Amino acid sequence: MKSILVANWKMNPQTMREAKGLFDATRKAAESAKDVSIMVAPPAIFLRELSQAYKGKRISFAAQNAHFQKEGAYTGEVSMSQVKDAKAAAVIIGHAERRAMGETNEETRAKINAAMAQKLQPIFCVGEHERSGAGEHFLFVKEQLRAGLQDIVPANLGKIVIAYEPVWAIGATEAMTPRQMHEMTIFIRKSLVGSHGDKAMKIKILYGGSIDETNAREMVLEGEVQGLLVGRASTNPAKVSALIKSLA
Ligand code: PEP
Repeated sequence: MKSILVANWKMNPQTMREAKGLFDATRKAAESAKDVSIMVAPPAIFLRELSQAYKGKRISFAAQNAHFQKEGAYTGEVSMSQVKDAKAAAVIIGHAERRAMGETNEETRAKINAAMAQKLQPIFCVGEHERSGAGEHFLFVKEQLRAGLQDIVPANLGKIVIAYEPVWAIGATEAMTPRQMHEMTIFIRKSLVGSHGDKAMKIKILYGGSIDETNAREMVLEGEVQGLLVGRASTNPAKVSALIKSLA
């Protein structure tokens, strides 16, 4: 089965010229990686130019965030329809860095619904801030899933990608272990089957947090995930090439 790689560039790079260079490195590596499905999530201001120039099939585009309202007086925001019009196929929702800026569970729910209405694939990020050893992180993640997905009918669940990203492993020195991820993959699937029925077995689960070319393959195979959401390593041309090759 194909693995998914979501390249979350965050607020990088600083010029369109550099963005084109980074995209080019990603595109070249993607050409020889048939079994990796790559989604590039550039800053919104670079999205249209990159997507319009790309004529291949291996890479699709995602926005890093979009507003849940259709239009109107929301200075600095972009709407789901604008993202769709810029040729994105997906949108990241509930990323830890957006939640840290105040995004609530209720807003993730509204954004998921707004994305679905525009036929954009939600890449729904969940993950706890810390682990105490007593297992509360499972309940924390379960609540994020419940809140965000409560309006989704079982038949639509397969259109959503869940990106589990423990906040403590994002931008860190080490990723979570594949064994810990395996346990979380089972937990997420079980929770969703409990809330949405057997259709939830189809949902795709990604891991995110301090992944690069050295640990990506092991995480996919042993963590039982369908792919990865990657920040830092996706913004370095040499590292993103090595990462894609390691998954191919
Ligand atoms: C992220 O921000 O979603 C992320 C996974 O970042 P990094 O790969 O840099 O830890």
